[in-house]
Amino acid sequence: MKASQLGEFGLIDHLAKNLKKGKGTVVGIGDDAAVIQLTTKLLLITTDALVQDVHFTLKNTNFADLGYKALAANVSDIAAMGGRPTAAVITLALPPGLAVNKLDDLYRGINRLAKKLKVDLVGGDTVASPNGMMISITLLGEVVPKNLLRRSTAKVGDLICVTGKFGLPAANKFSARILPPIRLKEAAALAKAKLASAMIDSSDGLVRSVVELTKASRVGARLWEERVPIASGANLGQALYGGEEYELLFAVPKARIKSLKKLKFGISVVGEIVNRGAGVKIVDNRGKIKTIRSKGFEHFK
Ligand code: ADP
Ligand code: MG
Repeated sequence: MKASQLGEFGLIDHLAKNLKKGKGTVVGIGDDAAVIQLTTKLLLITTDALVQDVHFTLKNTNFADLGYKALAANVSDIAAMGGRPTAAVITLALPPGLAVNKLDDLYRGINRLAKKLKVDLVGGDTVASPNGMMISITLLGEVVPKNLLRRSTAKVGDLICVTGKFGLPAANKFSARILPPIRLKEAAALAKAKLASAMIDSSDGLVRSVVELTKASRVGARLWEERVPIASGANLGQALYGGEEYELLFAVPKARIKSLKKLKFGISVVGEIVNRGAGVKIVDNRGKIKTIRSKGFEHFK
């Protein structure tokens, strides 16, 4: 069946059928706006859009994986702030001829992760698109003020640390089948332990994350090439510049670095925060300083 055969309202009813409302949600899908009970925590808001033929193609994409990834990218952003995801709205722009079973798959993927993380799907918008499909998810989250972690607070002398390994999605040509882990628990543990001075997720690539973190913090960085944890099957270039993995990259004051061992997950020290004037550079295993090759993926370039 095509989306156009159900029509906007039929399609919304169809997609919303399997979405359940959770505790913090006073009114979910079905009214003019969703209603959420506010708490004393800080509200986090993040959004991400996936566009046909930019981020995925209709031909070789598994829509359950696509849905999962669309939500996962948002969850990773909430995690990187030290927070917990709570509720999401989903906006779809759809070519009328799109098969409804692709959308069922999409929602199955979104729901799988939403259920696991107790994220409420509280609404969205459904519109027709004359030129290809777009899916946009906006995710709300919350964080207690003292656990908030930002990009802009790294200090000269801090060490640069990461979770996990890098380059797997790039080594697999960014197939939607590769579902990298999301470091929600690790981020919460880091925030709670007060060990990181600043944090960012690595979705645009390791080097790009360093560039963004240093830009926001008005500092520079040295990345030690030989310390970069490379996923099996990937090469150094893919690990440095690939992206689409949801690892955490964070700065830790040297005095706190020993306490990292108390955390029950793998952390690698990959570099150091230096003066802004020294820029962001990569140091190879012979101490040779390289300038960075590119800054990772960028739209409109
Ligand atoms: P309105 O005309 O007031 O914007 P809609 O008819 O667009 O309302 O939506 C009706 C309800 O369905 C709203 O609660 C809205 O949030 C929800 N909704 C619409 N599209 C989607 C979607 N793609 N996924 C989840 N919920 C949706
Ligand atoms: Mg609407």
